[in-house]
Amino acid sequence: MSRDTKIVATLGPASSDAEVLERMILAGVDVVRLNFSHGSREDHIERARLVREVMARINRPVGILADLQGPKIRVGKFADGKIWLEKGARFILDANCELGNQERVGLDYKDLTRDVSAGSVLLLDDGRIVLVVERVMGSEIFTTVRHGGELSNNKGINRQGGGLSAPALTAKDMEDIRTAASIGVDFVAVSFPKSSADMYMAKQLINAAGGHALTIAKIERVEAVEALEEIIAASDGVMVARGDLAVEVGDAAVPALQKRMIRLAREKNKLAITATQMMESMIHSPAPTRAEVSDVANAVLDGTDAVMLSAETASGRYPVETVEAMARICLEAEKSSEITLDREFLNRIFTRIDQTISLAAIWTAHHLKVKAIAALSESGATALWMSRLNCGVPVYALTPRPEAVTKMSLFRAVFPLFMSQRPTTRDELLFDAEQLLMNTGIVQKGDFIVLTSGDPMGTSGGTNTLKIVRVGDQQPYDHE
Ligand code: PGA
Ligand code: MN
Repeated sequence: MSRDTKIVATLGPASSDAEVLERMILAGVDVVRLNFSHGSREDHIERARLVREVMARINRPVGILADLQGPKIRVGKFADGKIWLEKGARFILDANCELGNQERVGLDYKDLTRDVSAGSVLLLDDGRIVLVVERVMGSEIFTTVRHGGELSNNKGINRQGGGLSAPALTAKDMEDIRTAASIGVDFVAVSFPKSSADMYMAKQLINAAGGHALTIAKIERVEAVEALEEIIAASDGVMVARGDLAVEVGDAAVPALQKRMIRLAREKNKLAITATQMMESMIHSPAPTRAEVSDVANAVLDGTDAVMLSAETASGRYPVETVEAMARICLEAEKSSEITLDREFLNRIFTRIDQTISLAAIWTAHHLKVKAIAALSESGATALWMSRLNCGVPVYALTPRPEAVTKMSLFRAVFPLFMSQRPTTRDELLFDAEQLLMNTGIVQKGDFIVLTSGDPMGTSGGTNTLKIVRVGDQQPYDHE
C-alpha cells in the first residue's frame, strides 16, 4: 500500500548526517524543510547537498522546502542567559537595552513600541509567558506579568489579536531567498504574511533570483486569517502554522481554522501543509501520545497534502522512529477517508481543457475501478488537479523534468516518476508510460489504467487526451 499523505521533516542537528537522513527518507520523508530561523547559509547549502546525495543513492525523489524566518519578533539576550518572572512583577521591554536583566530586556524589532499601547497583551515564548502593557514611553514598554515563568534569550513575542506592523519579508529573508534559489529549492514558505501583496512580492523575489520554487503562505497572523482567500489566490499553497497562529488567535480557534484552510486551499487548486507539535512528545519519547495519533489522523481526514515535523526531526532523540510512526498513522487514516467525487461533481463548471481532462480522468478511474492513473505532464499541473479530490486511485505523474518530480513530492496521492521523453509520437510515449508502470511493479498485465497526455507533446498545460487501456494491449513499437 502506498501512502497518499506526504511527510515534511525539518532538518537540524539530529538529522544532518547521511546515515540518519537515509533512514528518515526510507521511513517516509517526502519533503525536507530547511528552517532559515536557525543555522547559517552554509548549513542549509550543505544539508541540501546531502539530501540530494542520499536521494540519488536510493533513487527516491525528495522535495526541498526553504522556510523563511520572517519578522519573528524576539526579546534580546540576558546577562545570565535567562531570568525568572513572577506573576504580578513589573517588566520592561526596552528597544535600547543591550543586555537584559531581571528588570528589562532588549528587542530585535524597534518599532514594537509603536504597535502596542496600554492594555495590549503580549505573549512570549509561544504564550508561556503573558505580559500586559501598562504604558509606552520612548523606547520602553512597561508591562505587568500576568503569567510568569522562565524567560531565556531570544524568545519570540506575539501580540494577542495581531496588529504588528513588521513587514513579512525582512532584509534577511531577501538574502535567504537568494540562497534558496541558488540551492534550487522546490518550495519557499513565507512566514507571517498579512496579505496577497506579501506573497506576490515573495514570488517576484524568487523569480528575480532565478528560482522556480512554489510559494507556501504560512497562516500565523490574525490578519492572514482575515485575508485568507486573497492570500491563497496569491500562493501555491498554505501552511497551517499552528504554533504562532494559536498564540495570535487563541488555541481553541485553531482546529476549525485548520479545516477551513485545508478545504479552501483544495477548492482553489492549492496545496496545504499541517504543521507544528504533531508528534511533539516524540522529541523525547519513542512513542507518540494518543492525542498526537489523533491529531495526525485528523489532519489526514481534513484532506491535508502533508503533515509536518519540526523539532521532532530537527533536534529530537527519535527522528527515524517519529517518521515511521507518522507514516503508519497516515496510512491507517487514509483507509477511512471518504470518496465524495459524485457529490463534488454536481454543479461543477469546468473552465479549462487540461482541468476537464484531469477531472474526467479521476472520475473515470474511480468508477471503472482502475489500478492507476498515469498523468503524462510537463509541469505537474494535471497531477495537481487530479489530487484536489480524493478518487481512491493513485496518480502516477510521469514527467521528463526533474524539478517537476520533486515539486510533486508534496501533492497528496501523487507519485511522481521521472520519464525521459525520447519517443516522438504519442503512441510511443503512452506505451513507454505503461512499460514504466509495469517495470516498477505498479501495474500488471491485464490491469486497467487511465492515461492522460497532451497533443502536441511537450507543451506545458496542454493535456487534452484521456485514454483507457488494459495493460499489455498497447502495441509495442520499434526502438531504434
Ligand atoms: P515556525 O512556523 O515553526 O517557523 O514558527 C510554524 C508555526 O508557527 O507553527
Ligand atoms: Mn511560526
